[in-house]
Amino acid sequence: MKQIQRFRLLFLGGSIGLSMLLTHLFGLILGLGLFLSAYIGFIVYTRKRGSNTLNSLGLSNSNSDTATNKGQHANNNISGGSKITYICLSCGRKVSGRTCRKCGSRMKKAVF
Ligand SMILES: [Zn+2]
Repeated sequence: MKQIQRFRLLFLGGSIGLSMLLTHLFGLILGLGLFLSAYIGFIVYTRKRGSNTLNSLGLSNSNSDTATNKGQHANNNISGGSKITYICLSCGRKVSGRTCRKCGSRMKKAVF
């Protein structure tokens, strides 16, 4: 964990320093172009390695979103399986306990 934080700081500082150096050396537009290509190269490099470096840097939000979506689907599959669930008769919400959490009704029906 500490190594990742150090790597993140190193990466941020290095990227800022590199961008400043490149813009200083090659002018603003060319330097920014070089910096962006290096940045994209770094992203492709880490993605090819299949490491969690991108996740730790917060660069792959879409990946984490799909991961959470998959988790939700898995949960739906579990609840839609052999386990019996109850649905509130007054508001239609899933009831996990004895009474509905939303409206407090005890009227519920079993769903297989
Ligand atoms: Zn209810």
